[in-house]
Amino acid sequence: MSAPTDWGHRFARLGPAFYTELPPTPLPAPHWIAHSRPLARELGLDEEWLRSEEALHTFSGNRVLPGMRPLASVYSGHQFGHWAGQLGDGRALFLGELPTAHPDTAHARWEIQLKGAGRTPYSRMGDGRAVLRSSIREFLASEAMHALGVPTTRALCLTGSTAKVQRETVETAAVVTRAAPNFIRFGHFEHFSHRGQHTELRALADFVIDHFYPECRHTDGNPYAQLLQAVAHRTAELVAHWQAVGFCHGVMNTDNMSVLGLTLDYGPFQFMDGFDPHHVCNHSDTQGRYAYARQPNVAYWNLFCLGQALLPLMDDQQQALDALEPYKTEFPAALQRRMNAKLGLSNHEDNDPALTEALMQALARERVDMTIFFRRLSHAAATLPARTSEPAPALDSVRDLFVQHSAIDAWLPRWQARLQRQLNFSASTTAQQMLRTNPHLVLRNHLGETVIQHAQQGDFAPLHRLQHALQTPYDALPDHDDLADSPPNWAQHIAISCSS
Ligand code: AMP
Ligand code: MG
Repeated sequence: MSAPTDWGHRFARLGPAFYTELPPTPLPAPHWIAHSRPLARELGLDEEWLRSEEALHTFSGNRVLPGMRPLASVYSGHQFGHWAGQLGDGRALFLGELPTAHPDTAHARWEIQLKGAGRTPYSRMGDGRAVLRSSIREFLASEAMHALGVPTTRALCLTGSTAKVQRETVETAAVVTRAAPNFIRFGHFEHFSHRGQHTELRALADFVIDHFYPECRHTDGNPYAQLLQAVAHRTAELVAHWQAVGFCHGVMNTDNMSVLGLTLDYGPFQFMDGFDPHHVCNHSDTQGRYAYARQPNVAYWNLFCLGQALLPLMDDQQQALDALEPYKTEFPAALQRRMNAKLGLSNHEDNDPALTEALMQALARERVDMTIFFRRLSHAAATLPARTSEPAPALDSVRDLFVQHSAIDAWLPRWQARLQRQLNFSASTTAQQMLRTNPHLVLRNHLGETVIQHAQQGDFAPLHRLQHALQTPYDALPDHDDLADSPPNWAQHIAISCSS
């Protein structure tokens, strides 16, 4: 049984302008809550050690292992459309970088971070802690998103403590150990740009290119403009994933945007239940700035901020605008690709966007549950006839999701005819592909709330059961159907804010 010793410090080599070194603040009487075995394996960690007392103390901030070099990084950002000035890792501590099984790639090493490990010079008014409730949500969501195939930071383990933390009420503290190739945000670039620290700005951009986007130097042209374009491309893919699975981030501030196009900082996020394009999951977002349907445009707004920040490294403003231009076509193309896959369409036709739009309008009109709709549609696809326009009997289960069957009755034959036009259409192959694209299970708010309530009473079994099922979201596990049911009525009244 052995602790990891090969801690890398590539980020630390950027120099002290980028961070403050400090140890975590110990948390009294820590206990284990959960581990991610899939991530432990990817990091090649000794699983026996990962469940040891030493690991418990390490990942709750009570022990610094030989080779670690804890630090908090500094960044700034735009919050809710306004320049917020300096922010930084107010409660996250970076421990070092562990090697992965992919040595010659951008994933050669992953940064390991503790979230909730105490105050830092960037804590401002905060206490440097994270509460159990929000830590459970971040832990589960990180690993659930990964299992869905959505780019995300990961979560290795979760520890709890009896230490009291004051939010709206008194709660207890917890620490999530996060992992990602890096945690660099748009806000890191904005920080140095805004202060006129162009040497640091260039060093940071070179760091990101050298380690994560080496292709930006392979062709002629300004590498920083290419970096911007590459980040925009990844962001387009990310947001297309979010929209297709009904995920609302909730706080798309520039300090929560990953330069690698990962889902980052799980706060008041939500997987939508009933489909509503205007849905706002963050109770603190009174203007609806980060409503579901606005996410693609907000991502562009954030990329524009990143472009502004990188201007000192580019020839002129036009170069930044040109680098962002492809986003405007890449995002809709990426989304349509995902929607086509959800509908079982293996090729592209000009009318596909109109077909998708008609469906989403029908879902929105009655707030039909998005996850359940696409799952039932996938099962129904298996029974579609190869040619005739006869309605498949299994489509009744889809129609039954609508109070007014007429709301979907015009759309279903259009979809059926569209599928039948595909070369060598096979109902069973189509259904299989759709079942691998449309999840059976997503981390709905009420599922999170239920396991949180048990965890707050010291019972972690429901959390582990949910975690297990979320690892295979496209499979309906036996005896787990309750997790995929429509949400109970009380789910509508869950209000999740920035408080965490
Ligand atoms: P967030 O809204 O979680 O993305 O956080 C925005 C900023 O506030 C970041 O700089 C965080 O590090 C900081 N922050 C949030 N909560 C706390 C806390 N309890 N203690 C210290 N800093 C915090
Ligand atoms: Mg944040």
